[in-house]
Order: sequence, then structure tokens, then C-alpha cells
Amino acid sequence: MVERSPVFDDDPGPTVPVPVGLSSHPGRHCLGVDTEVFFPFSELGVLQARLVCTGCPVRVACREWATATGQYGIWGGTTREERTAQRHAEVSAVVEPTRPVVAA
Ligand code: SF4
Repeated sequence: MVERSPVFDDDPGPTVPVPVGLSSHPGRHCLGVDTEVFFPFSELGVLQARLVCTGCPVRVACREWATATGQYGIWGGTTREERTAQRHAEVSAVVEPTRPVVAA
């Protein structure tokens, strides 16, 4: 294992700065885990990354940041595709207001 944060290092890390509350959290589970784990090429790799994120104390904030900034890889135990789908669902919910019920 490489002794660096896979998710929060600058190289080849994200181009958008990670909030300090995430990057400096001493309890985050990816501390000391190889970066490659979070950029898997197989379903087994995705599962391994999800296991690292399971129970992480900053998981929700991590996922929300990755969703808002369009990150690739596994963040907060989610894939980019899952985050994109969630984002689209949230936008659709806002754009499609419920129709008022009109009595005849
Ligand atoms: S949720 Fe996963 S990627 Fe995010 S800080 Fe925790 S272990 Fe790292």
C-alpha cells in the first residue's frame, strides 16, 4: 500500500479543491489506501472501493462534494454513474411540479 491519501492528493487528484473538512479528517477510511482502488476497472474493483468507504465518517459529505463537482471514480461509496443518476433525479423532481387537483 502507498502511504498517501488516494482521494485527496493533488496528483492525480481532483482539479476542484476538496473541502478541508474532508481532506483533513483523521478518520476517513481512505487514508493510506492506494489511489488506484478508487478508480476501478471491474465490478470487483468497485466493490473493493465501496468496502473502503463503508462506515467512513465523512461519506455523505464526500459523496455530495463529488456529485456537485462531477468527479470521476468512487467517492462516498458511489460511482460517477450513480451520482449522475441521482443528480438527474433531483433536477427532475424540481423541474416537474405536481399538477394541482381540480375538482370538476
Ligand atoms: S467516503 Fe470513501 S472516498 Fe470519501 S473520504 Fe471516506 S473513504 Fe475516502
